[in-house]
Amino acid sequence: MKADKKMNVESFNLDHTIVKAPYVRLAGVKEGINGDVIHKYDVRFCQPNKEHMEMPALHSLEHMMAEFSRNYSDKIVDISPMGCQTGFYFSLINHDDFEDVLHILEKTLSDVLGATEVPACNEVQCGWAASHSLEGAKAIAKKMLDKRSEWPQVFA
Ligand SMILES: [Zn+2]
Repeated sequence: MKADKKMNVESFNLDHTIVKAPYVRLAGVKEGINGDVIHKYDVRFCQPNKEHMEMPALHSLEHMMAEFSRNYSDKIVDISPMGCQTGFYFSLINHDDFEDVLHILEKTLSDVLGATEVPACNEVQCGWAASHSLEGAKAIAKKMLDKRSEWPQVFA
């Protein structure tokens, strides 16, 4: 299956059969009328169509990355999971330093390894508080950190 027309969504134009996870890839840049710039990254944890993250683990990882990453930068707009459960989108405003983005992710995932509980894992602060796995999230973070040197490389 090869897409024959250019799609609106940047990643729909990416051939997911030739990428080599894990990786961190710049997936989009948007500039506002006042010159503010948002960089959006594809943070791919799992090899597409070969593996994926289970929802409770992915959900806990989302909570922890969302909370912990903001200890390292006030430029973070959003970090949110992909519906295919193979990665996250990570967006920052006015922060155009790829190496530092990798560094923020590395420190954030290291914090996940050291976590003793999932933040905001309750019915007041979360939409599905029963669906969490701290241990599952830690296993994903560990696997990702073990391949830290591979993150800048998107293709095999
Ligand atoms: Zn939640």
